[in-house]
Amino acid sequence: MRWLYALPLILMLCVPGRAQSPAAPAGDASGPSTAPKQPISFDLSAIDKTADPCTDFYQYACGNWMRDNPIPADKVRWGLFDELAQRNRYLLYLDLKDAAASPKTALQTKYGNYFAACMNLELANRLGAKPIEPELAQIAALTGKTQLAAFNLEADRDYYGAFLFDVGVAQDQKDASKQILATRQGGLTLPDRDYYLNDDDRSKKIREQYLAHVTKMFELMHDSPEAAAREASDVMRIETALARGSQSRVEMRDPANTYHIMTIAQLEASSPDYDWKQFLDGEGLAKVETLNVVSPGYVKTVNAILQTESLDAVKHYMRWHVLHAAAPLLSGAFATENFNFFQATLNGQQEQTPRWERCTNATDNALGEAVGQDWVKQNFPPTAKANVNKLVTALDTALAEDIKALPWMSDETKVQAEAKLAAMERKIGYPDHWRDYSALVVKRDDPVGNAERADQFETHRNLAKLGKPVDKSEWGMTPPTVNAYYAGAQVNINFPAGILQPPFYDDKIDPAVDFGAIGVVIGHEMTHGFDDQGAKFDLHGNVHNWFTEDDLAKFNERTKCIADEYSGFQVAPGQNLNGRLTLGENTADNGGLRIAFRALEETLAREGAAAEPGYSDGKRDGYTPEQRYFIAYGQVWCGNQREEAARVQARTNPHSTGEWRVKGAVQNFPEFGKAFACHVGQPMMPVNTCQVW
Ligand SMILES: [Zn+2]
Repeated sequence: MRWLYALPLILMLCVPGRAQSPAAPAGDASGPSTAPKQPISFDLSAIDKTADPCTDFYQYACGNWMRDNPIPADKVRWGLFDELAQRNRYLLYLDLKDAAASPKTALQTKYGNYFAACMNLELANRLGAKPIEPELAQIAALTGKTQLAAFNLEADRDYYGAFLFDVGVAQDQKDASKQILATRQGGLTLPDRDYYLNDDDRSKKIREQYLAHVTKMFELMHDSPEAAAREASDVMRIETALARGSQSRVEMRDPANTYHIMTIAQLEASSPDYDWKQFLDGEGLAKVETLNVVSPGYVKTVNAILQTESLDAVKHYMRWHVLHAAAPLLSGAFATENFNFFQATLNGQQEQTPRWERCTNATDNALGEAVGQDWVKQNFPPTAKANVNKLVTALDTALAEDIKALPWMSDETKVQAEAKLAAMERKIGYPDHWRDYSALVVKRDDPVGNAERADQFETHRNLAKLGKPVDKSEWGMTPPTVNAYYAGAQVNINFPAGILQPPFYDDKIDPAVDFGAIGVVIGHEMTHGFDDQGAKFDLHGNVHNWFTEDDLAKFNERTKCIADEYSGFQVAPGQNLNGRLTLGENTADNGGLRIAFRALEETLAREGAAAEPGYSDGKRDGYTPEQRYFIAYGQVWCGNQREEAARVQARTNPHSTGEWRVKGAVQNFPEFGKAFACHVGQPMMPVNTCQVW
């Protein structure tokens, strides 16, 4: 997968995702020396009682944890959330190691071989750049730009993905029951188009370092220093042009900006120098008459590149992307140079992530629903599924009541919002039907080929959806993943087994803590159906306005309040959050915190003492249920992050950093101030607050 931006599936994730690169590389071939600790729900020892919760609640809930848990040298971020991910990864690693040594089923043989091939450092070093030689030879043999469509097709079908142009299948925004073809923007290497375009000193410096990195990588391919420098400057020029022709992340959040249905003839007219017909025919898409062009400006930009750049320059660009995509799996020198720029320079990581972690991630990425089948048997009991289902129902009821009680929305729009909530489906733990990987060939002596074939498998699986009914039972995350998502075009919320563990969910703790942790996550995903992006979709998953004009104006005013507020939050010197990029996530955090609180209050009222196990005189560990609720919310975001990684996150990630997820949401919710007896005007109980839901 060489593509930067995914198709606009409108998946809204709960957490930022892995900071490490997904594929595997050089490094220590041994496993972990000790088992990572099991995170606990509600960690009293994490609390900094010298801090005032009304002044800085994040410091109060997490201060001692942050002091006692410095970031490991091989990580760019370390928090309670990462502790759970590490624990899940370790348990998965044990399965993979066993499957690699003595598989008991055909599926275990497959994922065991994938993992074993990835772990084989000696093999990687012996192969050097050999695994990518066939593709590089094909690029070298190109003699004219008219051959590019044919080569691109081969790259997409036989290697690791297409260059400059690719196609995929996604739900039609206007009729979500249909799956249509789309072509999107991409083709960059740095984390965002702004890295190529911004004029500040830090961005300029990163560009210089990137250019040096590309040059070094070409030198590792035995190009002379002069040739390598020339090739690197070709790469930089082409990627900069692509960046200029791309939409920003904020623009891409608006469905109106990513939907442009064109006929194939119109597409050909806007990029006449690329043989679309040959490309689409080769993909088996000869009968397609129309497609969605996500970014029309991008298509024109690529065409301009094909017109103005020399064939050699385009070949250097493609050669770079082959090398870059495979680098983590190649021999030590390539993997190390790749680490030095992307992890160390860009994100501040000090040491390479251990190989067992990278190979576990890579196997989970490639064969997640194969490894997940065994993982959930051991780590996700059926009782957990039933209990979480009850929590989701409690949140569902609370959001329905919240909508009814909204002071700013008319009854007319409320009826629509209620209908959308009623239509929202839920998936918990893992799929009912597991993906069939029988078409994916895995070889124990071919790690790069395995990664390529896994990518091809996904490409074919995606293209095969064209024209077929939508399968809403399909999952977009693997079972051990510590995350959750809302699928906007399918109107469903999804919670993998990986997040349904302490500190998020614990069947041995009081409900206040579960509501504050997993309850807020559930409310967060539900609220995504009603954030500035999700609210543009109706109960069928179609982009269609269901607000009255007046209510829409009020909604926009309220979301603007949140956007402006979060734009004022700083994550590193001179680096603030982008309130427009993070608007959906922040709205979901704020809504989730309110809704889960309401669900908790209802549970306490209904169940009385039964909902307060371990309490005496209304307190447990010295805290009321409401205080425990907010502390549990704050603690799932306890963590430390390297300054460089925080800067990358602020520029590219729709999620705010942990500190602001906590402080931003509690300071907008007066119930927090009440729970901790704060005074209006203190930082965590300001006079002016923002509220949407
Ligand atoms: Zn989210």
